[in-house]
Amino acid sequence: MRLTIQSIMGRKGAFFQVERTFNSEFAQRAPEVSKTLGPVQARLQVTNTGDGYLVTGDLSLEVEFFCSRCLKPYQTTLTPSVEEEFFNRPQEDDELNWDGELLVEGHEIDLASLIEESILVSIPMKPVCQEDCPGLCPGCGRFLGDGICDCTDPDIDIRLAPLGKLLQQASETTAPERRKAHDRPKEKTLQSED
Ligand SMILES: [Zn+2]
Ligand SMILES: [Zn+2]
Repeated sequence: MRLTIQSIMGRKGAFFQVERTFNSEFAQRAPEVSKTLGPVQARLQVTNTGDGYLVTGDLSLEVEFFCSRCLKPYQTTLTPSVEEEFFNRPQEDDELNWDGELLVEGHEIDLASLIEESILVSIPMKPVCQEDCPGLCPGCGRFLGDGICDCTDPDIDIRLAPLGKLLQQASETTAPERRKAHDRPKEKTLQSED
């Protein structure tokens, strides 16, 4: 993911445009991603700012997500834009100075962390196959888009489930503790071995 910037070095204001593809394997680390369907396509412009090199442009990656509601895989395209400057030297007085500061390395800049971060932050926390995906019935797990299941009223079941659990726990609180006190290791089974 290295890009040579030799052609615009020492020429403030000079820029070039480039189209490149990058390995997209890193994106599969995200749990929402079922698989990637190709490389990251990048259309970038690199501009010499005098202090460094400003990288702007657009990325595009076709991925398959798992829908967070119905759990079915579906395909979509991530299209984050990028805007980040690679500096010639560390920016000591920069408030935003952080460990991951991007620096020029010789005649090159390394786009790996910029591309990876831009793609990863563009992944939605709860991807949905479609805005109105009805999801699965909490009672039987059937896809609600396929029609009505046999569960009478799953909405009521969801709301009452935690309450029922609480009531059950409250009524059992004393019983298990008493049982625990009597639950001694069974010594007899150990002795019967010879
Ligand atoms: Zn869905
Ligand atoms: Zn159901």
